[in-house]
Amino acid sequence: MKVCYSDRYAVPLPEAHPFPMAKYRLVRDRLLAEGTITHWHLTEPTLANDEDILLVHHEDYWFRCVRGELTPLEIRRIGFPWSEALVRRSRASTQGTIVAARAALKDGLASNLAGGTHHAYPDHGEGYCVLNDIAIAARVLQRDGLAERIVVIDCDVHQGNGTAAIFRDDPTVFTFSIHGEKNFPARKEQSRQDVHLPNGVGDEDYLAILRRHVGQILDNFKPDFVFYQAGVDPFERDRLGKLKLTIDGLKRRDESVIGACRERDLPVVTTMGGGYGKDIYDTVEAHCNTVRTALSLF
Ligand SMILES: [Zn+2]
Repeated sequence: MKVCYSDRYAVPLPEAHPFPMAKYRLVRDRLLAEGTITHWHLTEPTLANDEDILLVHHEDYWFRCVRGELTPLEIRRIGFPWSEALVRRSRASTQGTIVAARAALKDGLASNLAGGTHHAYPDHGEGYCVLNDIAIAARVLQRDGLAERIVVIDCDVHQGNGTAAIFRDDPTVFTFSIHGEKNFPARKEQSRQDVHLPNGVGDEDYLAILRRHVGQILDNFKPDFVFYQAGVDPFERDRLGKLKLTIDGLKRRDESVIGACRERDLPVVTTMGGGYGKDIYDTVEAHCNTVRTALSLF
């Protein structure tokens, strides 16, 4: 199983910035230190090229982003200060999902230790998302004749609004999002299927709802490829989450989703998504569990 990681996933941020940029390296280091993965598993992605990116994003937006010509409002909406490193991060983490997708076709499963930037739209970014890596990787697979019917299972606590909008009128890509109703984005898009959860939902209720939906979607839509956005911000001590899943509950969630793909022999890519634990080591532990679960099931 391939695990994609690059030092380019992290960019320097102002000191008081709330985004836990250190998590990428910490997750990789922990997985290596405990022996869950070795250097044999790790693949460093190069940078996604413009041709692939433009399968989803508008030329005007993307090239202005590359040149540092986004407006202050556009940059504020993304939530990161613009830098050349930010452009490289966005390309690298997108390429990580593309490389993982190709590897999953061969091995059944692969992980990107970044990505899941599901708030990015074709013509703008928001919520710490510049490029929609899953949408781009899905389009790359379809263009190259490697997959036809794709499901996106988005378990981040925030709705996958960009992904939903991108595939709104596309019958070949099924978008599923299970998220907090009272959370960002305030104005939700319509995914093919949404579950809007009230604040405070805990492990058992969440898992029962999730299992029912995932099984039905995979059996009815009959995809040939699955992307799993495994955001860990539904965690009970997340600064943004408002739900009450435990670390163990998140792990059982990963087991449900990855296991459902495994049972049906469906290739699956995991991407990281959000995670804003009050203690960054909780966030790291929960992200590590996604990879541990993947390796144990495959
Ligand atoms: Zn999130």
